[in-house]
Amino acid sequence: MASVDHHVHLYPDAVNRDPVGWAAAAGEAHWARLCTRRRRDGRPVQEFPDLETLLRDLDAAGIDRAILLGWYWEHSASCAAQNRFYAECVRRHPDRLSAYATFHPASPPAEVEAELRRARGEGLGGVGELSPQSVGAALDTPAMQAALGLAASWGWPVNIHVTDPNGRAYPGKIETPFADVERLALSHPQVDFVFAHWAGAFDVRPLPNVRVDTAAAPLLYGSAAWALRGTTVRPDQVLFGSDYPLCLQAGQSAGAGLACFAAEARRHGLPGV
Ligand SMILES: [Zn+2]
Repeated sequence: MASVDHHVHLYPDAVNRDPVGWAAAAGEAHWARLCTRRRRDGRPVQEFPDLETLLRDLDAAGIDRAILLGWYWEHSASCAAQNRFYAECVRRHPDRLSAYATFHPASPPAEVEAELRRARGEGLGGVGELSPQSVGAALDTPAMQAALGLAASWGWPVNIHVTDPNGRAYPGKIETPFADVERLALSHPQVDFVFAHWAGAFDVRPLPNVRVDTAAAPLLYGSAAWALRGTTVRPDQVLFGSDYPLCLQAGQSAGAGLACFAAEARRHGLPGV
């Protein structure tokens, strides 16, 4: 079985060169708050690797393939730019990379449909990571309905960011009430959802069309996350995801943290990593 990381973020050189300046110019304040801050020890919360660095870090972690996830940008121009960048990544390394498209949930639905059709033509194969609440939108906007209709007809997975209300606080944390995401899954039974971050530790066992990924778990739960398997999540629902290039372990690079986390997942018997 190939080893897959289902939750990776990557950015174009223009973002990597100056993340703070890029975010200010693009009006992406929420992303900047989450991704360009430093921890109390002065180290950045995440790195900004280029594509070749990602591939080297995957190799070092023994991971065959990464699924590149978009971001819940505040502007549809940022969404489109990320989709184009991911199309180029997938074109260059189809053997190592898959990528999901993103969109703004308050955009006109026809615009979103056109963007997703374009992304599909360029080789993308899913939707996410979405967090409508983070951009002040509802989960059932016309654009969301349109995107989920396409995802269902194309067999595209849809990755949704889910926050644990009982988890630790961090700057930029947004509540994602479980009743809302649960309703989304129940009202779109034909869509294959992935609820990120262990679905915020909510009980997703009764939801047949929902899986979870393990993204950022070392920071959110430590190794206690593995006890969620069989408790709030059926074992067959769990996908390995890291949230690379988030630095997952104190004092370690993003790549070293990824390798440690993948090894931990294997020790706990998670298949597919
Ligand atoms: Zn997330």
